[in-house]
Amino acid sequence: MNKPVSKVREAKLELYRKQGKIHARAVDGRFNRLRWALVWLTQIVFYGACWLSWESNGSSRQAILFDIAHEKLYLFGLVLWPQDALLLALVLILAATGLFLVTALAGRLFCGFLCPQTVYTAIFTWIEAKVEGDHLARLKLDRSPPSAGKLLRKAVKHGIWAVVALWTAITFVGYFTPIRELLPSIAGLRTGPWEAFWLIFYAAFTYVQAGLAREAVCQHMCPYSRFQGVMFDPTTANVAYDRQRGEPRSARRQGAGGGDCIDCGICVEVCPTGIDIRDGLQYQCINCGLCIDACDQVMERIGAPRGLIRFASERELAGAPAPQGLGGRPRVAVYGALLLVFSLLGGGYLAERSLLLVDVLRDRGALSRETAEGRIENAYTLKLMNLDDAPRQYRVAVSGLPGLEIVGSDQFAVAPATIRPVSVTVSAPGGALPSGIRPIAFEIVAEHDPATRVREPSSFALP
Ligand code: SF4
Ligand code: SF4
Repeated sequence: MNKPVSKVREAKLELYRKQGKIHARAVDGRFNRLRWALVWLTQIVFYGACWLSWESNGSSRQAILFDIAHEKLYLFGLVLWPQDALLLALVLILAATGLFLVTALAGRLFCGFLCPQTVYTAIFTWIEAKVEGDHLARLKLDRSPPSAGKLLRKAVKHGIWAVVALWTAITFVGYFTPIRELLPSIAGLRTGPWEAFWLIFYAAFTYVQAGLAREAVCQHMCPYSRFQGVMFDPTTANVAYDRQRGEPRSARRQGAGGGDCIDCGICVEVCPTGIDIRDGLQYQCINCGLCIDACDQVMERIGAPRGLIRFASERELAGAPAPQGLGGRPRVAVYGALLLVFSLLGGGYLAERSLLLVDVLRDRGALSRETAEGRIENAYTLKLMNLDDAPRQYRVAVSGLPGLEIVGSDQFAVAPATIRPVSVTVSAPGGALPSGIRPIAFEIVAEHDPATRVREPSSFALP
């Protein structure tokens, strides 16, 4: 039987559980350090990558840009077109499969360390702590009657949050409109309607999600928390309380026969979602590991081994041996295999991706015409799509009928990442060939690399 916890401790825990807003206690430790390392890493990449430039053909452009107006995605030297939607789909499938694999291995690890909701909540909470003080000071401030000092602190906090939210929105939109053009347009109040909409929407979204909603998003809004359980198996490592070791818990250590949990409640106080991990696996747990850091410190203080709360699987907690190989972990094997297959498909697509695409359109005005020399001519429009990030020169040839040739120029220059429609006239000797629609083919070859070539079937009308 558990001994009853002291009234003071009980009241303290209730305070954390029942008050509307969770003010988590700060804790240091390896998981907290890892969390902040990832906050820094993700934010340096997010806020910084839109400022990178890429030199291309003597001019400079933003290295990462989703140019929606021109239907192109620039990723350093790679230019992706709507025709590359398959690659983008593969990237999304890869990301989802990677997430499933991580979840099968270690639960909601992504939620605890990389999810933007967690990352921005950590940043906004850090700002709150700098302005309002530690968790107890924040609780006291929230419960204190209105005063000039309270108003000032709240105003400063919300002001800083608003600035961070606005800068986040500017950075986000800066991946769609070159950020070096966006900033002057904002300063001069010249942003377009879509940019203005997304700036306001994304700033408000960040402010509400990270500043006001916080853990409520993880608890009530995130769909992933609801179906993540289907990816778990008994070998999935989650943040877990070792009940066998911890119980019976007691405010005073009982020596032989007693558990290691001293019911201090610190693991609850540090939890950003306000749950008690000792109640077992809960969908609100984001696997951030902060309760592990807290409990490890408590264990060190009382001279007990660390790891009363730790990343452990159901199987490990039950004392069963770890499975050998992937045979005992079917979900991990399946997700790992899918990840490999989709990675190979993506790699194969990139390796085989042609940097030249061609559309051949027959001139609809006249099927054919006869020249003074008695030759038959058909007119075509060739849409040459240079998917490369460099200017290219292409040579056009035609085959399929005896004496078939191109009239006029057969070489065309196309600017980087551009579609150029060109008019091509094809001529065949008249009289020698029976009338009708005959199959022919255009062959377009890049001058710089004969391996970059496209063969497009078409037809030739003979009167
Ligand atoms: S921090 Fe550790 S010792 Fe304290 S209540 Fe939580 S599990 Fe028990
Ligand atoms: S229970 Fe522990 S791991 Fe889960 S959210 Fe709370 S602090 Fe993080």
